[in-house]
Amino acid sequence: MKRSSSAVVGLVKPAVRALKAYHVDETPVRIKLDAMENPYPLPSAARRELAASLSSAPLNLYPDPTAKKLKSAIGAMWNIRPDRMLLGNGSDELIQAIILAFGGPVLAPSPTFAMYEITARALSQDVVTVPLTGEFDLDADAVIKKARQTGARVVFLASPNNPTGNRYSDDAVRKVLLNVNAAVVIDEAYYSFSGRSWLPQLSKHPNMIVLRTLSKIGLAGLRIGVLTAAPAVVDELNKVRLPYNINALSQAAGLAALRQRKVLDQQIAVLVAERTKLYQALLRTPGVTPFPSETNFLLIWIEKDATKVFQALKKRGILVKNLDRPGPLKGCLRVTIGTPAQNREFLKNLRSILSKD
Ligand code: PMP
Repeated sequence: MKRSSSAVVGLVKPAVRALKAYHVDETPVRIKLDAMENPYPLPSAARRELAASLSSAPLNLYPDPTAKKLKSAIGAMWNIRPDRMLLGNGSDELIQAIILAFGGPVLAPSPTFAMYEITARALSQDVVTVPLTGEFDLDADAVIKKARQTGARVVFLASPNNPTGNRYSDDAVRKVLLNVNAAVVIDEAYYSFSGRSWLPQLSKHPNMIVLRTLSKIGLAGLRIGVLTAAPAVVDELNKVRLPYNINALSQAAGLAALRQRKVLDQQIAVLVAERTKLYQALLRTPGVTPFPSETNFLLIWIEKDATKVFQALKKRGILVKNLDRPGPLKGCLRVTIGTPAQNREFLKNLRSILSKD
């Protein structure tokens, strides 16, 4: 039987056909400030060590199914019990595991990280959004009300939030944790840049799941996400995790890279100082308003046409994230904190673009 590809596409679930794939701008640029990557590579001595540990990884065998050594290194770094930890191929995969296990409706504030909604829809689950307040804080009462009305089973709270950069107030998060009959995921992808965490409260809140990632601290290429929750919850989530989801090279490289923790910590300290410097400089820049941030990026509002400014920056070889669309992010761009030289170059070009026409 001869079939056309459009007929086959017709067999794809409507929920998936209606989706837009997660967009990554792959334009080659000299300064890449669009994806919250750490701009510093590992030092060359560390990379030589890494090469040695990769060369001895037994690729003929399946990897350690529970990544015991890597878990214990991460556990030592972040004070998480390895037996209460689940690793994912990036925290993206853990978001998927959570929705696979709990189902929907999935509730998330808006605006927030796009993958909560994309993943929920791909798994044919309903998505419920609740607007953040004018200061981008969590509207706890509205979340609780919506969660009850819709019977939401999972609530995703990225704190600090992407793309707004702020942490939600403790009172609002606590109120949600205590008043919804849902798993509440506190996504702490940007924890290292805020230093504040809900992790110590885990034993008080059986419905809390905490997510972290190695991506933002300098290891985005490895794709290692970290989840912790009450042991019974971890056990359930572990049932939907694909076997051997952390490959042997990632396990070996993760272990070797985490031996460089001091270097990573120094890089993070530089980025945090640079964030303050860039924020102050943007405050002094006419026609621009930066929002306070506890992450490795800044959300900035631009008085002129932000999309035009985004394109002009790109033409000059500087890529940021364009968030300019109708809604609360109208006029906004998101810029990742880079090296001091990259940040200076970004600022210089932004000011020069804004001073034209
Ligand atoms: N959560 C948040 C809030 C993020 O911003 C990101 C990355 N943009 C992720 C999770 C996913 O991170 P990864 O899959 O690289 O661990």
